[in-house]
Amino acid sequence: MARLARDQPEQNFAVAVIGGGPAGSTCGMLLARAGISTTIIESSEGIRWKIGEGLPPLAKPLLRKLGLWERFLKDEHLVSYGNTSAWGSPDLVDHSFVFDPNGNGWHLDRCKFDEMLLSAAEESGAVLRRGTTVTSWSKTRAEDWKLLLTGRNGQRSEIAARFVVDATGRKRWFARRQGVKEIEYDSLMGWVSLLSPEGPAADKDSLTLVEAVEKGWWYLALIPGGKLVVAFLSDSDLGLIRQSRQPPLWMELLKETTHVSRRVARFGYRIEIGPRAIEVNSSCVNPTTGNAWLAVGDAAAAFDPLSSQGILTAMEAAMHAATAIVQCLQGQGNSLQHYVLEMGEVLSSYLARRYFYYSKERRWYHSPFWRRRTPQT
Ligand SMILES: Cc1cc2nc3c(=O)[nH]c(=O)nc-3n(C[C@H](O)[C@H](O)[C@H](O)COP(=O)(O)OP(=O)(O)OC[C@H]3O[C@@H](n4cnc5c(N)ncnc54)[C@H](O)[C@@H]3O)c2cc1C
Repeated sequence: MARLARDQPEQNFAVAVIGGGPAGSTCGMLLARAGISTTIIESSEGIRWKIGEGLPPLAKPLLRKLGLWERFLKDEHLVSYGNTSAWGSPDLVDHSFVFDPNGNGWHLDRCKFDEMLLSAAEESGAVLRRGTTVTSWSKTRAEDWKLLLTGRNGQRSEIAARFVVDATGRKRWFARRQGVKEIEYDSLMGWVSLLSPEGPAADKDSLTLVEAVEKGWWYLALIPGGKLVVAFLSDSDLGLIRQSRQPPLWMELLKETTHVSRRVARFGYRIEIGPRAIEVNSSCVNPTTGNAWLAVGDAAAAFDPLSSQGILTAMEAAMHAATAIVQCLQGQGNSLQHYVLEMGEVLSSYLARRYFYYSKERRWYHSPFWRRRTPQT
């Protein structure tokens, strides 16, 4: 990428990235490396647990390309050798990464991972504002974006930027306010808990476990520190919302599983945090860009957790986004259009894969959850 002059005063940036998850920090880092004055604004600070932990082997070449591989290894995320699933049949079938040219995948300490990306962005020259939320936007007289920021103790400040990146995840904070259309492909919800073992951590099984049930499906993943992330996924309109939010009732639902409940009982896992209710439907915004802004990561297109691809896709999209923004700031008019096309291809290939995987489960024809996702014959 060509270097552009860093000629803005402190509160004026070429690019303001809203959101410091994998998409925002990767995009901010690459822009800063290209010499673009960039700020990243991230609301959260010091959180204990962030959901979304599976990183596939394909992350290895990406992290190498970003120059973050050695740093990633130092954080000692849990190595994962694949998945095992009861999907389409009651028996578990292993899907090992053994034949993957990139080797194993990982179960992340997600807070550490996001922190690593944010620190790398800051070291590259991006100005990071943590514990700060973008709460309003307008335009300056020079037609730049003006963002109102609200900090930790409610203190307010303003910054100006020529270009805005919406990396706010599923909130789509900025894109929603630009009047874009949101497309939702289903109404999948997740009720996710963090579980701790009763005694010292003895569970060593780092395969991701997926189990289909009549009303949806469950997944379970061991994370660094010997804790377990367990999630129940079902549609928001199937009458399970009240039940799934309450720990004892969520545990009752879990008992309807075979493999997940066996694992939880074996090590005496108990809920430490949760269940948290989260929208996890497949959705996107259309268009993903506008005049001097674009959406990236989940803000642009969010995927079903079954794909285990959200983080990787967000980071890859951030690389495309950074290139498009640099070109746009240099006056190359069609650069954002390329980005739109790239995002469109990613989304269509994801939707085809999603259809393929859900179609493999044919045991519950009568269940609305599966009927909506499988071909009717
Ligand atoms: C149950 C579940 C399981 C998942 N499992 C996996 C998995 O195994 N593997 C995988 O790859 N992906 C998984 N994902 C998806 C993955 O977590 C996301 O795809 C990924 O986090 C997207 O990154 P992002 O940077 O786009 O958004 P996010 O990580 O959501 O980051 C957005 C950031 O924006 C900040 N923000 C929001 N609004 C504002 C504002 N107004 N001002 C300032 N900051 C703001 C938020 O604090 C947040 O840090 C899972 C998701 C869920 C819900």
